[in-house]
Amino acid sequence: MAGISGLPVVDHHCHLSPSGEAARAAGRFREAGGTHLFLATQNYEGKVPTDLDAYRRQFETTERLARDVREASGVVVYVVVAPYPIDLVRAAETLGTGAALDLHRRALDLAGAWVQERRAVALGEVGWPHFPVAPELGAASREAFRHALEVARDVGCPAVVHSPDLDAAGWRELDGEARRAGVPRHRVLKHYTRARLDPALGVDIVPSYLARREVVGEVLAEPGPWFLETDFLDDPARPGAVLDLATVPRRAAAIARRSPADAERLAVPFVRSVEEVYGVRPEVDGR
Ligand SMILES: [Zn+2]
Repeated sequence: MAGISGLPVVDHHCHLSPSGEAARAAGRFREAGGTHLFLATQNYEGKVPTDLDAYRRQFETTERLARDVREASGVVVYVVVAPYPIDLVRAAETLGTGAALDLHRRALDLAGAWVQERRAVALGEVGWPHFPVAPELGAASREAFRHALEVARDVGCPAVVHSPDLDAAGWRELDGEARRAGVPRHRVLKHYTRARLDPALGVDIVPSYLARREVVGEVLAEPGPWFLETDFLDDPARPGAVLDLATVPRRAAAIARRSPADAERLAVPFVRSVEEVYGVRPEVDGR
């Protein structure tokens, strides 16, 4: 078995689908040395939810996938749920912006309830579109995001943000928004971060880095918290759209072969950041 003795190996953001590889992909993750997955929900029915029941079904599917993965591979799965930010844009086409925003807020409240019931560990993905939208929809998206931050604050959980790539001004703006909403430090995470977050910016947002070799090399010495992720989509129609689910354990194993000192640094994304941000300690069972 590849991997690093004693350390868990954590992919901080992936998706699985009942119509994709699902537990088989998790099996590959395990084979490569992976131990813990943060599994974010996604639309499974080929269309955007237009009522709260559709979100309930969607979250339940994510929960079922998590259970299947645990049973099939022994990988520990943390569930992350929220209405996807782009859903608001699509739902507005049929419901109108006002009703779509109202549904989105209620779906965020539902996600918050799941966290309170310990069926999920965080809200995600929340945020705003990564492409230009009409001003009315842009404003509605920002309002929905503010509501997401309030829910995260009220239930006391992290919020995993979907957004365009951020420049220095963008990081500061997001940081300011998190502060204004009263979300504690290190509880807002930027998923799909593709370039090193400059510590000199002094923001309290936690980067979840796409596990590409160059980025990992650049951030390995950072004190954290920070995470590694693949954003694996498990979509047969889009193979290679993002990194494969085996990437994080393979990257970790390559680092361990190259340098034991660097391998120790992986305790930052795989243990200490999980503890600091999520308040849980990822354990490994006697491997
Ligand atoms: Zn994602």
